[in-house]
Amino acid sequence: MDMRKPLIVANWKLNNTIPEALKFAAVITADLKAAGSVDVVIAAPFTCLYSLSVALAETDFQLGAQNIFWEDSGAFTGEISGPMLKDVGCNYVIIGHSERRQLFGETNQNVHLKIQAALKHGLIPIVCVGETLEEREANRTWEVVETQLREGFGSIDPGETEGFAIAYEPVWAIGTGRTATPEQAEEVHELIRKHLDTAYGGDAREKTRILYGGSVKPSNSRELLAKPNIDGALVGGASLNTAHFAAIVRSAH
Ligand code: PEP
Repeated sequence: MDMRKPLIVANWKLNNTIPEALKFAAVITADLKAAGSVDVVIAAPFTCLYSLSVALAETDFQLGAQNIFWEDSGAFTGEISGPMLKDVGCNYVIIGHSERRQLFGETNQNVHLKIQAALKHGLIPIVCVGETLEEREANRTWEVVETQLREGFGSIDPGETEGFAIAYEPVWAIGTGRTATPEQAEEVHELIRKHLDTAYGGDAREKTRILYGGSVKPSNSRELLAKPNIDGALVGGASLNTAHFAAIVRSAH
């Protein structure tokens, strides 16, 4: 039996005002009716989350945040906490996206604290890993991804959390239009799955969803999602277009 329900995540990044978000929600829910056998998550900017939680309340669509801070409250200007994300209706959170690592100096140690904070507050983590082009060309892909997993997770066993997701996102494929081939992606996904078994045993290997991210679009999603170790997708650019995003969700059925 397949224990992993496919997961398609829209990562809106720094895009969409509240009216734009609500328009998107109205169109996508009318188009897809029920997400059904696929978990669909909209990871919207913080400012849209509450309005979206109201708009999506009676639907199968779920809400995600794009970041979380590890403290619950206090003097941390500009940060957002687990209790605040739960308060606005989130149940998923993206952690360690390559843009946060590259542009905002996020480290594997930060990622570790953020995963702990998410779990403490009942948020399902979507933890991003992936190599740069330079690292891939130097044949360091697995070394880099394995370090991100080992240091980011530490003793946290993803098999203990229902729905836990890891997103493999080669940095050279994000927002570039250059997608990893299904074979390139599957190769790393399989290594991640093996690592989960070696590091945690138990259910981690079977339960953890491993998503691919990096220029996923309607023209390549079906082929990527057909691979045995690709359990879903983290979609950036194409998630801003309702027709494209709906087509990607359909290709996961
Ligand atoms: C992302 O934001 O995680 C991403 C994969 O972006 P894009 O689909 O635009 O490459």
